[in-house]
Amino acid sequence: MTALSQLTAREALEELALGRISSMELTRACIQQIDRLEPGVHAFITRTSEQALSQALAADTLRAAARQSGQPVPPLLGLPLVVKDILALSGVRCTCGSRILEHFVPPYTATSVQRLLDAGVVVLGKTNTDEYAMGSSTENSAYGRSFNPWDMSRVPGGSSGGSAAAVAARMAPVALGTDTGGSVRQPAAYCGVTGIKPTYGRVSRYGLVAYGSSLDSVGAFGRTAEDTALLFSVMAGHDPLDATSMDVPVPAIQLNGDASLKGLRVGVPREYFIPGMQPEVENGVKQAVKQLAALGASVREVHLPHTEYALPVYYLIAPAEASANLARYDGIRFGERKDAEVMWDVFYRTRGAGFGPEVKRRIMLGTYALSAGYYDAYYGQAQKVRTLIKRDFETAFQSVDVIATPVAPTTAFRAGEHSNDPLAMYLEDVFTLPTNLAGVPGLAFPVGFDKAGLPIGMQLMGPHFREDVLFRTAHAYQQVTDWHKRVPALAQ
Ligand code: GLN
Repeated sequence: MTALSQLTAREALEELALGRISSMELTRACIQQIDRLEPGVHAFITRTSEQALSQALAADTLRAAARQSGQPVPPLLGLPLVVKDILALSGVRCTCGSRILEHFVPPYTATSVQRLLDAGVVVLGKTNTDEYAMGSSTENSAYGRSFNPWDMSRVPGGSSGGSAAAVAARMAPVALGTDTGGSVRQPAAYCGVTGIKPTYGRVSRYGLVAYGSSLDSVGAFGRTAEDTALLFSVMAGHDPLDATSMDVPVPAIQLNGDASLKGLRVGVPREYFIPGMQPEVENGVKQAVKQLAALGASVREVHLPHTEYALPVYYLIAPAEASANLARYDGIRFGERKDAEVMWDVFYRTRGAGFGPEVKRRIMLGTYALSAGYYDAYYGQAQKVRTLIKRDFETAFQSVDVIATPVAPTTAFRAGEHSNDPLAMYLEDVFTLPTNLAGVPGLAFPVGFDKAGLPIGMQLMGPHFREDVLFRTAHAYQQVTDWHKRVPALAQ
């Protein structure tokens, strides 16, 4: 049998249900893989191996008891998972990749994580992230960068880079991430795994440390669309603890062996194929669209005319919201306090020492955009253009069911390549930001490799609350292709 760490979540759950493996064996296999590869990949900020082993033991005990009594078991019983270190897990420190929260231990658990725990998962640790999820490479983490398992001189993407790298390196079959402007989809693309950013309001944000509250969403990674859908189905649904969570029924996501996409209308927007993008990415995505057509989908061109404004709009709205959200880290309410004689100096010293340079840049940008005299020209204007971007999608989804685009203009870049050029770093998000501004769902999955052996990602975007169509489309594609089955050499 293949090594246990290579199993997908669905395979592992089948083996567990048949009693052919135990959660202890599976969890130990993941821990061994982490022990072996973590020194190079650096996917984690905090590991919780002992806790994981006791959760695994409890899962095995429950399964054995259920077998005796004939009772059903929770759907993900005994399945190992890793969690981005920006989602609260009671009793385990939550750093958000920031020095200012180095010793912060939340007394409660995020709803998304809690629902997965209730479904039986085993948590292997908290994964690396750009500080407060601000970044596209995990290089903005105060705990050191993560590396891409496909090429250790490259970034895994970000900000959920630790989660994506862990899944690609077979340290865990599935992972949680968060996506404010692309932070699940872009690392999924760079690491050759599948990642979902759900509709805004679909998955509770309770216990997700806020960055840009009107854009933040909790998403999931797996190696297949099917595994990603498993996590999504458990997490999704209304939560009274998040006022923006929507009370919309979550459809059962039926993914069977049928790869037909007959009747599916796929739109391809010209605005997402821009000069300067890596030709292999463009070709890879176009080939994948042809594959969707071969499965029976009809393909047509659509227009999203305000796409070019998404980047400036995002980089006004997200920092503006961040500047308000991060005001609470003052050493008094939250954050590692640096004492001083007078109150203002406490704030100044705490924030000066605790935040890294990118976070400071965003707070300054956001504070400026919100300040008296500039508010209308920047923040107010950005909100208006955001509405136009949202309308672009509404119009496009009148004639198509999904929109297919690249995830990012390039494959994974080299560590350090954009470190001194924030604009070049921001440009990695041009294709993922519009989704968050419009609140629609997006799914990323591998559709090929470039000459350097790095994964190429395709993005599918859908109407609000239609994650099921995205999963079904990617699943059909994965039935007839095997890009998602490739394993980085180091993880074999
Ligand atoms: N890279 C984008 C940023 O830096 C998006 C991050 C995210 O989705 N959290 O803000």
